[in-house]
Amino acid sequence: MTHLRSLFTGNDPLSAAERAAMASLRRGGISSVIWIVTERCNLRCIHCYEGGRITPELSTGEVLRVAERLKEAGRPLTFISGGEPLLRDDIMILLRKLKEFGIRVILSTNGTLVDEKMARELADSGVNNVAIPLYGPEDVHDAFTRMPGSHERVIRALGLLRDYGLSLTIKTVVARRVLPHIKYLFDLAVEYGAKAVYLCDFIPVGRGALMREEVPSKEEWRSLLDWFIDEMLLGGAYGGVEIDIGLHPSTAIYVMERLRERGYDTSRAEERMKDRRLSVEGRGFISISPTGDVYLSNYLTDFRLGNALRDDLKKLLNHPLYRSAGDSSQLKGRCGSCPYKDMCGGSRVKAYIYTGDLLGEDPTCLIQD
Ligand code: SF4
Repeated sequence: MTHLRSLFTGNDPLSAAERAAMASLRRGGISSVIWIVTERCNLRCIHCYEGGRITPELSTGEVLRVAERLKEAGRPLTFISGGEPLLRDDIMILLRKLKEFGIRVILSTNGTLVDEKMARELADSGVNNVAIPLYGPEDVHDAFTRMPGSHERVIRALGLLRDYGLSLTIKTVVARRVLPHIKYLFDLAVEYGAKAVYLCDFIPVGRGALMREEVPSKEEWRSLLDWFIDEMLLGGAYGGVEIDIGLHPSTAIYVMERLRERGYDTSRAEERMKDRRLSVEGRGFISISPTGDVYLSNYLTDFRLGNALRDDLKKLLNHPLYRSAGDSSQLKGRCGSCPYKDMCGGSRVKAYIYTGDLLGEDPTCLIQD
């Protein structure tokens, strides 16, 4: 969750979400939560990090109790995700309860189940943003999801949700075969009035472990960022659309260095990154599983902090794992000796997945080869 446009230009299409996260951080120490409410899914995407795993899930009464816990914890920005969350019969009950508690919600759905009735119900639920994955034009997208016609359904969903006045995000995974289609995604974002394109680095885990060759090289990431700098940050293209990067904090450091070289003042961005490290693990972010278990991250299920039904969420922030993940002075390798460690911190997810050490260096760092 690195908002490049707001960091470097001050134009912040997601400002309401950012404000909600910061207000919650001040209230209770938790800024944002990814809550996987189910692992059931109607698609079988080739890159899915969950890899088709299905665990039991909480009952309606239990999810409402977890919602209560989120309220008590300061009302963090809450990403409802899956699996496919719309497969839960009680999803509207949960969304309405979160709204009643004043919690800002981003719903992540694959879009295939959104018809006119669902779009109307989502609008009525008060959900603040709907994030829908798209991997490129029809042939590329349908090959990713392994469901012919899924691209058509996503486009229909975007149109319906826009027509019902919902705020939208288009999200994708930055795999090699998606790279040629990033512009297509921004074009669609403009067409459907989406507030952001969320670009999550591809991590070869789950089913994705079978497609390691799809991990972009550092040079491919740098070329993408150079395009963002020239066309969007300096050129003003797609001005109303945030460039939201997931699981790749050194992207912002790379952009900052390139802008500095060209004589631009980046002091404001530096101050913001010093205030709030880009690597969010141990720094206000938690993840909740379908069983209510709380983890450092939905990618880091070896690191369990407690359970949202039984534990006070704020107290879990004192867990030694949480504290060390958020402590930049404990970082090792190149991240440990990096002058940007308090701003960036490296992806703790990728450090663990690629090196086996939660506090190790992020081997995908874009400012070091
Ligand atoms: S070495 Fe680590 S902390 Fe420094 S910029 Fe790279 S990823 Fe970030």
